[in-house]
Amino acid sequence: MSTQASRQQFFSKLNVNLDQLREQGLFKPERVIASRQGAVVRAPDGRELINMCANNYLGLSGEEETVQAAIKATEEFGYGLSSVRFICGTQTVHKELEKAIAEFLGVEDCILYAAAFDANGGVFEPLFDENDAIISDALNHASIIDGIRLCKAARFRYTHNDMADLETQLQAAQDKRHRIIVTDGCFSMDGTIAQLDKIVELADKYDALIMIDECHASGFMGKTGRGTHEHHNVMGGIDIITGTLGKALGGAMGGFTAGRKEVIETLRQKSRPYLFSNSLAPSIAGASLAVLKRLSGSTELRDRLQENTDYFRREIEALGFTIKPGTHPVVPVMLFDAPLAQRFAARLNELGVLVTGFFYPVVPMGQARVRTQLSAAHTKEQLDKVLAAFAQAGRELGLIK
Ligand SMILES: *Cc1c(COP(=O)(O)O)cnc(C)c1O
Repeated sequence: MSTQASRQQFFSKLNVNLDQLREQGLFKPERVIASRQGAVVRAPDGRELINMCANNYLGLSGEEETVQAAIKATEEFGYGLSSVRFICGTQTVHKELEKAIAEFLGVEDCILYAAAFDANGGVFEPLFDENDAIISDALNHASIIDGIRLCKAARFRYTHNDMADLETQLQAAQDKRHRIIVTDGCFSMDGTIAQLDKIVELADKYDALIMIDECHASGFMGKTGRGTHEHHNVMGGIDIITGTLGKALGGAMGGFTAGRKEVIETLRQKSRPYLFSNSLAPSIAGASLAVLKRLSGSTELRDRLQENTDYFRREIEALGFTIKPGTHPVVPVMLFDAPLAQRFAARLNELGVLVTGFFYPVVPMGQARVRTQLSAAHTKEQLDKVLAAFAQAGRELGLIK
């Protein structure tokens, strides 16, 4: 008997599990792009595709202005810091960006992280303990769920977007010292917008704090793009806001937590993904700062995104497709059946449209879909091409007449 039997079994087990994923059609291949991110991307074989599945809401990811801002910041501040923030990893550009994010969101202060995943992973444990309660929407992002797991607070979960159940959970948590309601501002699978107006009322009634994750909102939700809190007219009513620099706000990577200064100061002292992980690259800090300046000066991009969203939602429904109703630039086109969603996405890819099928376990069983996402960078001509491709593929597969 080899002394390596267990080690060999370990690798065989992984191969068996991977084969199972492939057989079940749950294996996620990576799509390779040979160009910048944008409304149109080039595949390695040279084919051009209209991109309908990026979080590039404002079209800034591959845009020359963003790229140049990153190059300029690299020239001024170098490639990286080789340090965490508190030792020797804080540059003027990091402080300026934190100030700019706080101002943009209408709060006092902000702390940067390497990713929103880290911001959510490091926000609960320093602020709450076993005397407290965290009341979380059932469909909150994985990083919120993981962050809550790292914290000793009592956990309460309310049915997704269900205000009656949130109230029930708030009542159940009344004997705790502090309560915090936690929700995605906008939910990425359905484009659902959290009912922050009602959540603020419930938080008042039951003496609770509120935290929102604005990854699918910062930069474009609300009249001036400040986020879901602006959309619902409750800008002063949110205690903690987390978000990403990796979606609308430039698209590189990086995350943040924003709120009252004593909250942010506490996180700087105690939040583990901040204390024990490297500083954000200066190129990202500089480019994000340029993005925020641009968005603060003009609502042109978020206005164009909204026009594109309204147009696409109206026209795709007119073709006879079923979408999740709403106003968010996430527009799920419902196929319900998983193999059908895969065939439909594959056909759209052949027709020059980049989309992905989503099915269980990413979305509930029987809720398979092609999730489209609009961008300010899409032209009307491109959207018309996308609509024509949906019409053709839809007729071929008997989805529409
Ligand atoms: C994308 C996303 C994150 C993670 O953001 P990163 O900066 O890429 O780590 C966290 N929360 C929500 C709701 C997201 O959509």
